[in-house]
Amino acid sequence: MTSLAFLSLALAAAASPGLRSVDTSAMDRAASPGDDFYAYANGTFLKTAQIPPDRSATGSFLRVFQTVEARNRAIVEETAKGDAPAGSDARKIGDAYASFMDEAGIEAKGLAPIQPALARIAALKDAKALAAELGGLVRADVDIFNCTNMYTSRPIGIFVEQDLNDPSRNVPYLVQGGLGLPDRSYYLDEGAQLAATREKYVKHLEKLLALAGQPDPAGTAAKVMAFETKLARTHGTRDDAGEMQKGNNPWARADFDRKAPGLDWGAFLGAARLDGQPLYMVWQPTAVTGLAALVKSEPLATWKAYLTTRAIARAAPFLPKALADESFAFNGTVLTGQPEQGERWKRGLQVVDAIIGEAVGKLYVARHFPPEAKAEIKGMVEDVRAAFARRIDALDWMNPATKARAKAKLAVLEVGIGYPDRWTDFSGLEIVKGDVVGNLERAGLFEYRLALSRLGKKPDRGLWCMLPHTVNAVNLPVRNALNFPAGFMEPPFYDRGATAAAKYAAVGAVIGHEVSHSFDDQGALFDEAGKLSNWWTPADLEHFQAAGQKLVKQYDAYRPFPDLPENGKLTLGENIADLAGLAATYDGWKASLGGKPAPVVDGLTGDQQFFVAFAQTWQAKMREQAMRRRILTDGHALAQYRALTVRNIDAWYEAFGVKPGQALYLAPADRVRVW
Ligand SMILES: [Zn+2]
Repeated sequence: MTSLAFLSLALAAAASPGLRSVDTSAMDRAASPGDDFYAYANGTFLKTAQIPPDRSATGSFLRVFQTVEARNRAIVEETAKGDAPAGSDARKIGDAYASFMDEAGIEAKGLAPIQPALARIAALKDAKALAAELGGLVRADVDIFNCTNMYTSRPIGIFVEQDLNDPSRNVPYLVQGGLGLPDRSYYLDEGAQLAATREKYVKHLEKLLALAGQPDPAGTAAKVMAFETKLARTHGTRDDAGEMQKGNNPWARADFDRKAPGLDWGAFLGAARLDGQPLYMVWQPTAVTGLAALVKSEPLATWKAYLTTRAIARAAPFLPKALADESFAFNGTVLTGQPEQGERWKRGLQVVDAIIGEAVGKLYVARHFPPEAKAEIKGMVEDVRAAFARRIDALDWMNPATKARAKAKLAVLEVGIGYPDRWTDFSGLEIVKGDVVGNLERAGLFEYRLALSRLGKKPDRGLWCMLPHTVNAVNLPVRNALNFPAGFMEPPFYDRGATAAAKYAAVGAVIGHEVSHSFDDQGALFDEAGKLSNWWTPADLEHFQAAGQKLVKQYDAYRPFPDLPENGKLTLGENIADLAGLAATYDGWKASLGGKPAPVVDGLTGDQQFFVAFAQTWQAKMREQAMRRRILTDGHALAQYRALTVRNIDAWYEAFGVKPGQALYLAPADRVRVW
């Protein structure tokens, strides 16, 4: 604790003239903070910023993303010059990138990279061989709780993670998969738009099969669509997949034969290298029983058509241009509305990330994330953690037993900053220059074996789900851990040359935001060890929910469009996290000053810098359609309203002299205090 206190003092002492406060060029000081605080902090940006034609928004996140992308390009292109020693991570990065960038080489190879897979599928002769083929396709390519990825085009995805009921060991989670479209709803839901998407999907499969030289492309595409629709009927819904209680289905090995007849589970689990596990967590039991039933009911020829189509579709982005373009025309344009494919080097970086991203991250942090940055952010984490604990103590509504559980959880929260403490050893990963499809295949298998090697062992809370250069931050609820990647630690989120006020308001608020997710309605499902056990008493939960209702009303009152208000209920969890994060980091910053006043910089007091810096992290300009889609589907409020979290903090009123009658004024009783 001494070193942390020292860091805090060092921060306060460092806040002297010469440091930056906020981005004053983005502000509009003519705007009234009490009437339009977002314009006061970001008004010049809003008037002058242009959204790039291939983007739906611009602002703080895009700027950081582009900075990081340009740095990664430099790193990866240097390694691709190829003079790093054979077998080194740098050489593997360079070779993986060069392989994707070599378009002429990819054209010349044609379909050769997928011939072995297609030949294997064509040779399947019975149900046992089919079961082994399905098992052999399994990879660790899903993530239920951490970075949250519920989709795999493989029949089943594996997620190796702590047992929800026994935090002492890792177990395999089995997640449904196998669909070509993103979710069961695309196959089964009503509506003209989805019906049109389905028609385009069948056409897309037909084109892919034709380009791959398969016989009867139209007949096969129709057959595959009919098959996938049957598979979709067995799948659980996306909403249910997010519910811990619904996914918590431990099966013993014998349960597969009893509950899911039709598939040779011995052959399947053997090929998947998953035999002999004490238990299997079956996240969507209907999909596992459904898969087995389809093996029994569907002709082998149908399975072969389906597996052939999936193999071609999976590899298409890395095959000759005709196939890659067709893949993008459907998956990019039809499914996500993206008119143009990103430049090849940008896609090349994504391919490298998929193959050996953590090694890129290691080079990235060596260049762009100095130890001093890590140490300083760690100090802020501890200040915010301590402030959060004091706020829990001060809650008048929470009973002492719940407070004790909350503080126990807070005390052991594992906070990863910048990058993981231990790096993955990639020496076992073979990268062959000129073989994109093979490299991806070997990397998937390498990743899968790494995941399997963790089965049965004690969970490692220091494992990361994000890459060091990812521009994001995440709460890992089962591990009771947070990841704050180095890629995110760039201005305006973290500026080493900024005042302490600006730093705490930006990165400190993000830290507080993620910490508070450990205590919200989802976080409360897990105890300090990550065991599924709700530690809220019913009375405390009622109070928590009542406080939330005031925040729901506050956000429901925001009207970005006359016909479409914000959705306070949908965004509640994130809004609580924003509020808790801001309140805790404000306290943490004040404590770090050790009683000394914060310096005035750029004509702004410390408190003014703090609140403007916070509002500038939410600097964004978005196209109307994107805003509307976000309001309808996203759990996060629009950036302009996230910035207005300040309305609930008393100090904001004092900092800017906000008075009754001004548009953003809330009477003290209407300001929400959750934590
Ligand atoms: Zn959040």
